[in-house]
Amino acid sequence: MKPTLDDYRHKGMRKKLMDQIREKGITDENVLEAMNNIPRHFFLESAFLEVAYEDKAFPISVGQTISQPYTVAYQSQLLNVKPMDKVLEIGTGSAYQACVLAEMGARVYTIERQKQLFYEIRTFAYPKKYRWLKFFYGDGFEGLPTYAPFDKVIITAAAPEIPQKLIDQLAVGGQMVIPLNEGEAQRMLRLTKQADGSIIKETFDRFSFVPMLTGKEV
Ligand code: SAH
Repeated sequence: MKPTLDDYRHKGMRKKLMDQIREKGITDENVLEAMNNIPRHFFLESAFLEVAYEDKAFPISVGQTISQPYTVAYQSQLLNVKPMDKVLEIGTGSAYQACVLAEMGARVYTIERQKQLFYEIRTFAYPKKYRWLKFFYGDGFEGLPTYAPFDKVIITAAAPEIPQKLIDQLAVGGQMVIPLNEGEAQRMLRLTKQADGSIIKETFDRFSFVPMLTGKEV
């Protein structure tokens, strides 16, 4: 069972977590405010209440993880989210990152390749408050051509390469935040699509994600 009560104690723990993330270098107040508004413990089973407000990744079902809060903040900050931006997320997982983007006013399309995770999310009440948040079961390498173009693309699994189909689905001037394999870990990149289809690449810190895998898991 996932908890559904958000009391003063949770709010206090959340505020402390935001202070920690701020100290680690996150400066975008819109990101911090969105994360402060979302009860992260709702995304974990009741037994894990305390860890929900530690700055750590945590295992959820089928061997997957809910990203570390700092990582969620970092990627959200790089994404430059504006209200009504159309954002494609690859790797729904717990749906926490997707809710953070929706809380920031984005229209979010998120894809998960694991059927079990996808079904769990469909019975999870919290994300239903976001009218513009939509869940898809599929292979993120394919993106969602019928909904393209997107203003932003965020990949929340370790990408073996830059997926060309996702670049194709990006609007001109659009940006993609992608953790790209580099040795044992991933380098965070931000790609900006130019009018001629070429991309400008900016490089940031190293992180560690679960792998982005091809095809769907049934
Ligand atoms: N954004 C998530 C973190 C997800 S962990 C959160 O906030 O909790 C990475 C997720 O990416 C896993 O659930 C994994 O199943 C999924 N994934 C890996 N490869 C994928 C692909 N090709 N398409 C869609 N999802 C993928």
